[in-house]
Amino acid sequence: MKLKEECAVFGCQGADDAAGIAYLGLYALQHRGQESSGIVTSDGSRVYEHRDLGLVSKVYDRETLDRLRGRMCIGHNRYSTTGLTSTANIQPMLVDCKIGKIAVAHNGNLVNAVDLRRAMELDGSIFRSTTDSEVLLHLIARSRAGTLEEMIMEALSKARGAFSLVFLTKDRVIAARDPHGFRPLCLGRLGEAHVVASESCAFDIIGATYQREVAPGELCVLGEGGPRYLRWSEPAAKQNRCIFEFIYFSRPDSRVFGENVDKVRRKLGRRLAVESAVDADIVIAVPDSSNTIALGYAEESKLPFELGLIRNHYVGRTFIQPRQAMRDWDVRIKFNPVRGVLKGKRVVVVDDSIVRGSTMRKLVSIIRQGGAAEIHLRIGSPPITHSCFYGIDTPTRGELIASSHSVEAIREYLGVESLHYLSTEGLLSCVEEPDNYCVACFTGAYPVDPSDGTNKTVFESRTGCGDGFENE
Ligand code: AMP
Repeated sequence: MKLKEECAVFGCQGADDAAGIAYLGLYALQHRGQESSGIVTSDGSRVYEHRDLGLVSKVYDRETLDRLRGRMCIGHNRYSTTGLTSTANIQPMLVDCKIGKIAVAHNGNLVNAVDLRRAMELDGSIFRSTTDSEVLLHLIARSRAGTLEEMIMEALSKARGAFSLVFLTKDRVIAARDPHGFRPLCLGRLGEAHVVASESCAFDIIGATYQREVAPGELCVLGEGGPRYLRWSEPAAKQNRCIFEFIYFSRPDSRVFGENVDKVRRKLGRRLAVESAVDADIVIAVPDSSNTIALGYAEESKLPFELGLIRNHYVGRTFIQPRQAMRDWDVRIKFNPVRGVLKGKRVVVVDDSIVRGSTMRKLVSIIRQGGAAEIHLRIGSPPITHSCFYGIDTPTRGELIASSHSVEAIREYLGVESLHYLSTEGLLSCVEEPDNYCVACFTGAYPVDPSDGTNKTVFESRTGCGDGFENE
């Protein structure tokens, strides 16, 4: 079973050319998932679908979008992980059940999906994908509740973990969020139409206005009679919004968890500069994800921000290794040093995070070859010591360099003059409601037990999920 799902979801109700709107929205959300994309629409009586592997620009053309008729739709971009790629896993997932057709698009990760699925399989259920989203659809289909909304609510109450969801039936779009608020999901208006998206940058591209977040534990029913906002669960006493959305995942031009990502990311850089001042000449970012953090660092430290690394934006995910490839070719093909900027300089290099450490090690040697006299590495997050079970694609603990190495050992491994990570307190001081964030990847304090009943080791090893499950 896929345990890690970083994704984008989108929904639209009440607009002409809903599919075209979803296409633009998914285009703006491409950074949240590049493996596959899908849109399911409804014209009120029939449901249409299209999904494929690849980037949004490749998956759809005008003809496809024209075939996706109707004034309501949901869409999804799925993140590329190193695991098995199967077309059966492409979302939105669409099934037929006693209430007719229902489709779902999911961002997050259910920590009890393995247990739920196993129980249903023992009871005779058949699954065709290895995603936890299908588990949700089964729960809905098996519910004996009276209305669609009640069926969804009953299903959601059995799920544990992180889920920001959009559902589509023939006559409505429904958005829902888990009680912890792990992953973002926001509502917007486009004239008379309602839109819902993982990040608000999807609203800008279609000219929609941001309204608010879908509240944790809320169900937003968007149909012809106007929107209905229901509660399927009390929100958790303490929210567990993913702080990594601000560090790396969301786009700086988005509003996420009610705050501007750009603003928070700049604060990370400023705070990092306060915590780790160093005598240096210039500040550079590892583009693009660290640009805003590096700007904050430069502002605070009064050092000039320079473009010392240029990123090639046209590197596809499936580029072929040339026969004469040099060492570190995978990083070199993406980043090239600007010698005129780096030569002889004491350089502060700002990056958002270190996961395995392999990218940074190669980058350090590239920056060194670019002529830097000293490299002072500053990281806009604390050391990542624990895997995420709520939807961010972190590898197993053993692969996380900071789970087994001290900061000094990492500095030595990377070969830099100095290395500083942002403190957890410093990180939390940059958001408005610090108590309402999940920082488990830095502390190991998991707010929702990821052990999934008897399968504790499953989530550590990501193998042995049981027959029929995809092992990564
Ligand atoms: P590495 O330390 O070689 O595993 O790579 C770390 C780099 O990956 C950082 O510079 C981040 O910008 C980026 N990164 C951090 N988290 C993620 C993630 N969840 N998915 C993809 N890339 C990430």
